[in-house]
Amino acid sequence: MTYPSTRLFIAGEWQDAADGKTIAVHNPATGKEIGRVAHAGRADLDRALEAAQKGFEVWRDIPAVERARTMRRAAALMRERAESIARILTQEQGKPLAEAKIEAMAAADIIEWFADEGQRIYGRIVPARGSLAVRQLVLKDPVGPVAAFTPWNFPINQVVRKLAAALASGCSILVKAPEETPASPAELIRAFADAGVPAGTVGLVYGNPGEISSYLIPHPVIRKVTFTGSTPVGKQLAALAGQHMKRVTMELGGHAPVIVADDADVELAIKAAGGAKFRNAGQVCISPTRFLVHESIRKDFVAALARHAQGLKVGDGLADGTQMGPLANPRRIAAMAELMQDAVQHGAQVAAGGERIGGDGNFFQPTVLDDVPVSARIFNEEPFGPVAAVRGFEKIEDAIAEANRLPYGLAGYAFTRSLKHAHLLSQRLEVGMLWINQPASPSAELPFGGLKDSGYGSEGGPEAIEAHLNTRAVSITNV
Ligand code: NAD
Repeated sequence: MTYPSTRLFIAGEWQDAADGKTIAVHNPATGKEIGRVAHAGRADLDRALEAAQKGFEVWRDIPAVERARTMRRAAALMRERAESIARILTQEQGKPLAEAKIEAMAAADIIEWFADEGQRIYGRIVPARGSLAVRQLVLKDPVGPVAAFTPWNFPINQVVRKLAAALASGCSILVKAPEETPASPAELIRAFADAGVPAGTVGLVYGNPGEISSYLIPHPVIRKVTFTGSTPVGKQLAALAGQHMKRVTMELGGHAPVIVADDADVELAIKAAGGAKFRNAGQVCISPTRFLVHESIRKDFVAALARHAQGLKVGDGLADGTQMGPLANPRRIAAMAELMQDAVQHGAQVAAGGERIGGDGNFFQPTVLDDVPVSARIFNEEPFGPVAAVRGFEKIEDAIAEANRLPYGLAGYAFTRSLKHAHLLSQRLEVGMLWINQPASPSAELPFGGLKDSGYGSEGGPEAIEAHLNTRAVSITNV
């Protein structure tokens, strides 16, 4: 199985770091080194910034319809190459091949939606109060070069949402992609390069995340910052961007509640929320985590969820039939072990899983905990792993209060046949995205983002375009 080493993409050229530095990349299913990724230094970043400025000046002046054509070519290349890109993604990140292929194909859908939406950036003409000789215009222009920082859980998807929105808006973008999973996002960038995006419009670097963000964010070339990752890092980067008055989108951690009412279709809840829980081994910001289940059905629900978890085939994502792969890095295994120990000490019962699997690779059993007290760490900290934590409730208002207790507010799920419950939940749950009686459906046309400590701004829908635009008022009087 071949795995490519990854280079930087600066000013339209694939290149090594100026000082030749590289970082090792490991396969999380085996723990073995499979390749290297170039580690950018200050000289590389300076060239990338200069290119991003030049690329912006070219790209913004290309008519939106032409820009959309280039983006559509990139989308077509992603579809054509999805099979080989998925193999690269699974080797570096661990997720099952089928999930990796879905991620590569979904990238094409996202690019196409933004390519279309970018042609609908309109201004306004506002009637003047005085003379008809005055024309008042509201203009929308691209904000400028964007710096994007993306994580390892969806190496392609996290980049493509930022990249497609920026390009559709007429901005250039410099991506700092994850060092742990570098080659699949590089394939996305390659699709844009091969589609003919002008030099500098798209750039790609890797290196020391802290050093790169602290250099790029204050840099005068960068006009907007977009980050996906943990809440503590997001707060640091947003503070830095604030000091330098940069526009910001933050897509941070979550701790999604799943409310299962006494009138729920339990089979559907297990299929939809249980399925979503173990996707990508739970390393998903919108992963269902706190299962709040009505007391009258809790025992049956837990038994069914435990059966679902125990029935999943865990293994190397490249192997046939694998339903859940390894965790992406050894840090997650240590985190799972700590959370499990803490939950059990607090009195939670293990209904399924709970242990690491084997010694090679970062495998952890799909796990279900029942009767978890709210004081347990897992009910407060984002597990970012394959653990479902269940506790009961008596009244729907209590479930809503528990759902809103945490500072997170990214995603939520609910299962109920009652229209009254559904309305109440949609009004009261403090989340940016709520799915009732269905699995998550985060498509490009819907807003994607959180409230409270889960961040601000949106990575979907027209709001994602608006986040990349300046709004200016121009008034012209005929003389
Ligand atoms: P982390 O906080 O160290 O890193 C998260 C991401 O931020 C990584 O991609 C990392 O490269 C990047 N990062 C870290 N410091 C940075 C900096 N100073 N400047 C720019 N980028 C920086 O955590 P981790 O161990 O990689 O992941 C653990 C936690 O991160 C998870 O528990 C989860 O809460 C969060 N996370 C969230 C998402 C998401 O989709 N929202 C994705 C990955 C990780």
